[in-house]
Amino acid sequence: MAAHDADDLIARDARCAWHPYTQHATEGPPLPVRSARDAVLTLADGRELIDAISSWWTCLHGHARPELIAAMTSQAERLDHVLFAGATHEPAVTLAEKLLDVVPRADSERRLSRVFYSDDGSTAVEVALKLCVQRWLSVGERRRTIFVALEGAYHGDTFGAMAVGDPHPFFEAFTPMLFEVQRVRAGDADAVASALANLGGHAAGVIVEPLVQGAGGMRMQSPEVLRGVRAACDAASVPLIADEVMTGFGRTGALFACELAGVVPDVLCLAKGLTGGLMPLAATLTTEPMFESFLSRDRSRAFFHGHSFTAHPIACAVALESLRLCIAEDTPARLDAIGRDVERSLRERLAASSHGEAIARSVRRRGGIVALDLGARGGYLAETGPRFRAEAVARGVLLRPLGDVLYAMPPSCTTRAQCDRIAEVMAELAVLSA
Ligand code: PMP
Repeated sequence: MAAHDADDLIARDARCAWHPYTQHATEGPPLPVRSARDAVLTLADGRELIDAISSWWTCLHGHARPELIAAMTSQAERLDHVLFAGATHEPAVTLAEKLLDVVPRADSERRLSRVFYSDDGSTAVEVALKLCVQRWLSVGERRRTIFVALEGAYHGDTFGAMAVGDPHPFFEAFTPMLFEVQRVRAGDADAVASALANLGGHAAGVIVEPLVQGAGGMRMQSPEVLRGVRAACDAASVPLIADEVMTGFGRTGALFACELAGVVPDVLCLAKGLTGGLMPLAATLTTEPMFESFLSRDRSRAFFHGHSFTAHPIACAVALESLRLCIAEDTPARLDAIGRDVERSLRERLAASSHGEAIARSVRRRGGIVALDLGARGGYLAETGPRFRAEAVARGVLLRPLGDVLYAMPPSCTTRAQCDRIAEVMAELAVLSA
């Protein structure tokens, strides 16, 4: 694509496209991306950018991984798509078997044994919430409709996911239409226990992003908190939903964040890295008792939920290959090493800067996720985000601050030199903001 073609693309885009999370009145033109390979995006004018946020946390192994592309094309030639109601296929079943093999199973009692497929993280969460509510209904507990969720949580943009997410700053326009949720402080298992005690027979379940709250600002919590939340759910006999849409598939240094806490949730939501970022696919995993509560001679007790592309064979085939890579290459360990490299280089650079000390105190890491608070405060909607995004791009790195939180979450193929460059740019932006 020549530079004039890029200008033409941007002009045509401005006339017809509507981008997500974009204020079109004020934001600059989108990046015209020509191609991507490994950790690098190539722009129309030949400029290269390190994809330090794995294209919204999806691209797990790097772009254009040949094994994933081969899995995609060979599956497309065999079976492109078929409905998953009343039909089945090898990729969906094998993927379900393999996922159930690798998900957390710390205690003997609780075991995830069923996989419900959908298309994206928000929908994986919708499915989780609906499963819990319908299960309560099936055992005659009609009043159990209130979920306990955490402050600063983000679970997606569909209505149920918005309801359990923190309404600030994204969803305030929709609050009159969102169902009631009991929101408690994050990082405080006792607060979850007392919310459940107060709700009594109205509690439907608890939903958390285990160990790292992503879009809410890469806020990190200890595994003890997650264990405490699990215990609170057990004490109140309500299901724990773990939303591992972001943390899943090695981001925290373990295959799943729950694993680091030795916790098995009753419902587990997966998406993003599930296919290594090549295809949209999501899965909601749950237990046999949950599945069995939907069995009845009465058809109306079935789970009436499904999408055109449920269990898309090509996406499932790619996910299978991605999971194989994850295990064969120990992707969690790779991501952890990348996170350590970025953190070390970042801390060294901040230590060498006169303004760096205060910022260094906010540096935090879990596995391959490294974050810091920028000096310029003002929340998600401040100008900080777009301004520092542009500063990062000018330096050859794609970073997308969450308001005043700057973070990196690179793919597992990121080289040491690229880690160093990411850290260098993060440090420069942090110092700029001080
Ligand atoms: N849950 C979490 C924890 C997420 O981080 C996200 C997306 N950032 C979602 C759900 C929603 O996923 P999607 O964008 O695929 O709908």
